[in-house]
Amino acid sequence: MYLRMDTNNSIFLQAKSLLTEYLEKRHMRKTPERFEVLRAICQTDDIFSIEQLNGKMQMNSTFQVSRPTLFNALETFVDAQLVIKHTLQRASLYERNIDKRPRVCLVCDQCGMIKRLERAEVTRFLRDIKTRQFFVRQPVLYLHGLCRKCEMIRRKEIKTSEKKQTTRK
Ligand SMILES: [Zn+2]
Repeated sequence: MYLRMDTNNSIFLQAKSLLTEYLEKRHMRKTPERFEVLRAICQTDDIFSIEQLNGKMQMNSTFQVSRPTLFNALETFVDAQLVIKHTLQRASLYERNIDKRPRVCLVCDQCGMIKRLERAEVTRFLRDIKTRQFFVRQPVLYLHGLCRKCEMIRRKEIKTSEKKQTTRK
């Protein structure tokens, strides 16, 4: 538990210096709101929606950030490559990207669930892909399909429709 806090705090310190550098280069203001949002993101290991982050900040943060400020901060972080934005069919989801590690995400096309697939060999494979024609900003590979729950529902539906057909005969 303490280790986790320490890890997240060192991630925040790293993220903070990257954001400071980004803002200074562009003559943008180093508002306390931006850093508060960044701190909340560094405490979140999962993929999150803007609503989830908002809820978390309302519970944990000492001062409140409005939704438009939150949205703008996230867009800034995406441009600074500190956050990955997953633009999916139904919603936009975000994920911390301080370590710039390539990742594989599983996307359920039925319920919209998105999960990271942790496989060292795939991460290594993605890291080794180098091309001069293209500069990768979002090192993410998406695999689309159905999550376990949605797949079970689909199989059940097939079975039910097969049963109906045989009873009709
Ligand atoms: Zn699903």
